[in-house]
Amino acid sequence: MERGSIDPVEELREVVTHLKKLIADDRDMGLEPPALSSSTLKYLQRGASSFDSLEDLRDFMGECKRCKLWRGRTNLVFGEGSPTSRLVFVGEGPGREEDMAGEPFVGEAGKLLTKIIENGMGLKRSEVYICNVVKCRPPQNRDPEKDEIEACLPFLEQQLKIIRPEVICTLGRISAQALLGREFKISRERGNWFSFMDIPLMPTYHPAYLLRNPSAKRQVWEDAKKIMRHLGLEVRENGQA
Ligand code: SF4
Repeated sequence: MERGSIDPVEELREVVTHLKKLIADDRDMGLEPPALSSSTLKYLQRGASSFDSLEDLRDFMGECKRCKLWRGRTNLVFGEGSPTSRLVFVGEGPGREEDMAGEPFVGEAGKLLTKIIENGMGLKRSEVYICNVVKCRPPQNRDPEKDEIEACLPFLEQQLKIIRPEVICTLGRISAQALLGREFKISRERGNWFSFMDIPLMPTYHPAYLLRNPSAKRQVWEDAKKIMRHLGLEVRENGQA
């Protein structure tokens, strides 16, 4: 994280340390500390180092305002799917339909992603986990900005810590760039293995790009096969999304 950006876990750790000191000071002075909510107590007891579940993390995020994207959102799009998934797809951010529905990848691009998962990879959509780098819709579907990615990325890191997938598949240039922390040339670098938080990462094209460039489906299928082989799934060589 860069100077000036806020890591919510770090922020919470500081709050916890401060609260503990206040409570200890009150006790030293013979005062009863104020009553705390059960969720606050839970974070205090755990030391705020991690979250037990995705629900726990979502609960902590609440109506997040850690970056300016909260102003334009209808719904915060946290992510959906199996909390024990072996495979996590990461897009860049919610679009208009996702913002309205509060769910990731529900528009035309989402339908295509479902086809890739179900028809191509032979998995159910509910068996994988799908989320985005930023959880709130950027205005006019522009790319998320650096400060927005920095503010929201710790939430994705926490999601990955909880799910502990065997593979991350990033969709499009922005999500690969955000996770790898550098400029990423999607047409040249997709289809190669990288790593994020020691989890193998396969970058491929975003399904929205495939809607505009159907011929790129073949390349996405090649990338999907690499993921399937890594997961020990049966690969039908003539299959395609
Ligand atoms: S994009 Fe992320 S950091 Fe920004 S307001 Fe939404 S949830 Fe919070």
